[in-house]
Order: sequence, then structure tokens, then C-alpha cells
Amino acid sequence: MIKLYNQLTKTIDEFTPQDPRNVKIYTCGPTVYSYAHIGNFTSYIYWDFLVRMLTLSGFNVNRVLNLTDVGHLASDADDGEDKLEKGARTEGKTVWEIADKYIDAFLKDFKSLNLTEPAKIARATDYIKQDEELVDNLTKKGYTYETADGIFFDTSKFKTYADFAGLDLEGLKAGARVEFSSEKKNPSDFAVWKYVRPGENHAMQWRYNNKIGYPGWHLECATIIHTELGDTIDVHAGGIDHIPIHHTNEIAEYEAGYGKKLANFWLHNNFILIDGQKLSKSLGNAYTLSDLKEKGFDPLDYKLWTLQGHYRTERNFSLNDLSAAKARRLNWRNRIARLYQQDAISTVDNFDQAKALKLAQNNLNSSEILALIDNSMLSLEDWMFVDKLLGLDLVASTPDITQDLADEFYARELARKNKDYAVADKIRDDLLSRNLTILDTADGPIWQMTA
Ligand code: AMP
Ligand code: ZN
Repeated sequence: MIKLYNQLTKTIDEFTPQDPRNVKIYTCGPTVYSYAHIGNFTSYIYWDFLVRMLTLSGFNVNRVLNLTDVGHLASDADDGEDKLEKGARTEGKTVWEIADKYIDAFLKDFKSLNLTEPAKIARATDYIKQDEELVDNLTKKGYTYETADGIFFDTSKFKTYADFAGLDLEGLKAGARVEFSSEKKNPSDFAVWKYVRPGENHAMQWRYNNKIGYPGWHLECATIIHTELGDTIDVHAGGIDHIPIHHTNEIAEYEAGYGKKLANFWLHNNFILIDGQKLSKSLGNAYTLSDLKEKGFDPLDYKLWTLQGHYRTERNFSLNDLSAAKARRLNWRNRIARLYQQDAISTVDNFDQAKALKLAQNNLNSSEILALIDNSMLSLEDWMFVDKLLGLDLVASTPDITQDLADEFYARELARKNKDYAVADKIRDDLLSRNLTILDTADGPIWQMTA
């Protein structure tokens, strides 16, 4: 039985997809205006684990991920400059160049974390026609009104608007009185389509309703889901910050416009802090995966660090803790290396694959799976299963080089027998320069990795 926390019900519910074999999943992707930092990847790592758990549970997973290349303004509400326009201005590039550059970087990072590739990666700007159709729909059904800024969704017309996030709409109204001077009817109303105002620079623009403009941010997720996955998906996932605005608005647009429920399950990952502080460029702690690589870490060390915690828990990251995760991953790879060099019959295997999968099915309990690995003896086949479940590339990054090292082992033994320690030390140093070391065990010398 699969159990997942569901933001719709605010409880842990039994999960069954509508189609007994196929699961339709949508995950909100990055806004491609700068390099993603490690906090941004929290989400993709946990949803990769979700996809892997579902696949090992026997489902076909049809997952769509979007790339936001238009319409996401500096504030998640409808204020401030478009993030891509800002990126273009800062770097002296066109918005299209900015989008291409950071999509490329994102996909490279995605690969380096060994994240399962979604069935479809969809760019927001490829769905403008569908965006316009959805706005048409909303307008026909009486959900929108026009201001000088654009076309707005009247949230008072969508009766369940406050339910998803548990919003206090009256409180919002009271709190907004001072700054709430725009032509919006309610503070929670949001733009489904923004007009380019006179004097405003907005390179990405389309003619709609006889005016030049661009889609509001939330629209893309609604139209991509509808186009690529159809009516009512099984799981929608994203960052916890998306609950009160982005996902609330996605639901309003999709359900009001298409007349169907958007998703049966909504999952959200929590945030990470770094050394107890928010990630920010000005604090210099918004590390990218490249920064971590420069500090000697593998992206998969970061993936393991992430899986050490639960996706719904806020966590504190530090380079010290990352070093511990790196050591843990190395230790696991060395256990695999040891297996290559052991008499298979003499090894005990008491790892319970079914138990590990059950932990994953219990609302993605990754940390207990890691503890189970620490406390069990795994066969090579178990490690392959672990790689399928966690995607840490443990087996592939530990090739069996026992044969290749036979000459070195022999020469070292001989040198030691002849008390020719200079030769023996040289062999040891040569191996060290290749990140290998020799461990003298009761069963004789074995090779292990040092990195
Ligand atoms: P973007 O739209 O590319 O700016 O993506 C930002 C998303 O990354 C946010 O909506 C969050 O869901 C996620 N995010 C940002 N900072 C963190 C953090 N410190 N920890 C976890 N997720 C984060
Ligand atoms: Zn979204």
C-alpha cells in the first residue's frame, strides 16, 4: 500500500492512481533566469525518489516537468519585473538567449544528479496558443475582468479558492487595505494575462485581445498539464512556497476553465536553510552544484544528503554535514568494492528489499532506508536495487578493477617480502594518486577507493 501526504486533505492518504497501471505526474520546474542553487534541486531530488518508488511498485510513470521561460515576475504575486527580462538586462543578452543558457545549465545539473528523465519537458512559451484558449474559456465563463494591467481572475467567483492553502481571505483584505490600491477587485485576484504597459520593456510578447501582452505565470502549468496529461492527473508536486499562490491559482484556472479537478494528490517539499540562514546571493551561500564540485563534492553526495531527511521537513545544510554524506556514500561504494573481492559464498545477505520499498511507499521515508542500508549486509543484487530506488549510481561508480590491479598487488607483496619498502611505498603512492588504497585484511590485501 502506498501512502502519501496530500495537501488537498491535509492527511496521509492511501494512494491509488485512476488507471491501475499508469500514473500521471506533473512537477513544477525552474524559472530559467539564472543558475539553479542547491535549494532549488531539493524538489527534483525528492520527486525523483517518488518516481523511482512508483516505478518499483509496478507503475508506468508519465511525468511532465515545465520550464518557466516567461511571465514569472520578481514577486510571486503580480508585481515587479519579469525574472527573464531582468536576467537579460543584467547580462546584456536577449531573453531567448538567457532562457537557452539556463535551460542548458539546468538540464546538465539534472543529469549530474542522476534524476530520472521526465517523459516530457515542456517550455512555457510553446503553449501560448493553449494559454489564450484557457483565458478565452475563463472569460466566457465569467471568471475574469480587465484592468489597465491585464486580464485578472476574480477569485471571489471561485468558491473554494481559500481551501487548498487554508487562506484567510478576510484577513488578506484587511491587511492589504494600505497598499491595495490597484484596480484589482480582491487582493487575492491574479493576472491570467498581463499587458505590456507603455514604456515597459518586455521582449517576450504576443497579441491577444487586440493588445500586446504575455501570460500570467500560473497559466502555463494549467495549460501544459491539460495539453500533455489531460483531465485530472494523479499527482502534482512542487515546493512548499507554491501552496498559497502558485498552486492555489493553478487550481483556480484549471478547474474553473476546464471544469475538471486538476489533481488527486498534491505533494510539497520543504525548504533547506544553510548554516541556519536563508539561501541568498548576498550571503554568498546560494551554492550551485558547480560550487560544490569545486569544493570536491560529487552532485550525488548532495543527493544523498538530501535523502537523509524527509521531504516535508525543513532542514539545515552545512558543508560539514555534506562531508559526512560524502563519506557515507564512499563507504557504501567501498562495500561494493569489497564484494568484488570476496568469496561470494562467505558473504551473508540480510538486506530486505521489500522492507526498503515499503519504507519508500510510506510517504517517502528515505532516511530509514539509508539506515537499513547501514545496518544490513547487501549482495551485489541488493546494491543494484538500491540504485534503482535511490539513483545514487553506487554500482556504476564502483567498477570491478580487481584484475587490473593484480600486477600491482603482486609487485607490492614481493617488495614487502624482500623488505624493499621503497618499491612497496611507491606502489602505494601510485595507487593513492589514482584514489585507490590497499587495505590489509584477515583475508589478505584488498583495494578500496579514497574518493
Ligand atoms: P524558481 O522558480 O526557479 O525561482 O524556483 C524557485 C523554487 O525553488 C521555489 O519556488 C522553491 O520551491 C524552490 N526553492 C527555493 N529556495 C529553496 C530552498 N532554500 N530550499 C528548497 N527549495 C527552494
Ligand atoms: Zn507550476
